[in-house]
Amino acid sequence: PHALTLSLPDEDATTALAERLAPLLSGQVPGVPLGGRIHLHGDLGAGKTHFVRALLRACGVTGRIKSPSYALLESYKVSSLYFYHLDFYRFSDPREWVDAGFRDILQDNAVVLIEWPEKAGDLLPEPDLDLHLDYCGDGRLATLDAHSAKGTLWITTLAP
Ligand code: ADP
Ligand code: MG
Repeated sequence: PHALTLSLPDEDATTALAERLAPLLSGQVPGVPLGGRIHLHGDLGAGKTHFVRALLRACGVTGRIKSPSYALLESYKVSSLYFYHLDFYRFSDPREWVDAGFRDILQDNAVVLIEWPEKAGDLLPEPDLDLHLDYCGDGRLATLDAHSAKGTLWITTLAP
């Protein structure tokens, strides 16, 4: 399938989803090439940063994981794999980023997780996966949309 909808009744369910995706992104599943790009959509407080933190932890990132809402970018490295966590909420001038060579981080073998990608306009290429987190009662509804063969592979593996 190219799309998947999951009910996440509490924050532990969000953590669990991130923990299921982690091995797929970090090259721990045979036949799934490591790395990939995920765009995270959802209102403030929907759980985007929570999801990214859980994913990074599950991939072996230790130490403090800060929200990149001020710095725009936080990066991590686990053995030879690079992780980039971006948050475009406060993003104003896309040109600054192009000039800073930020496209370099969109390399195929890195894990790139982007909050508020819509604020970057058309600066970003299509991700492997769009993850939408929507409020649903006290919990959240997750909608996953794949845009590449890799994203489709992730969804197929995650599907119940
Ligand atoms: P965002 O980055 O989207 O603005 P945060 O991740 O900073 O949001 O905050 C999300 C909040 O929602 C956290 O307090 C987290 O515990 C909570 N949360 C995460 N997932 C769920 C869920 N499935 N149901 C209820 N609360 C959740
Ligand atoms: Mg956030």
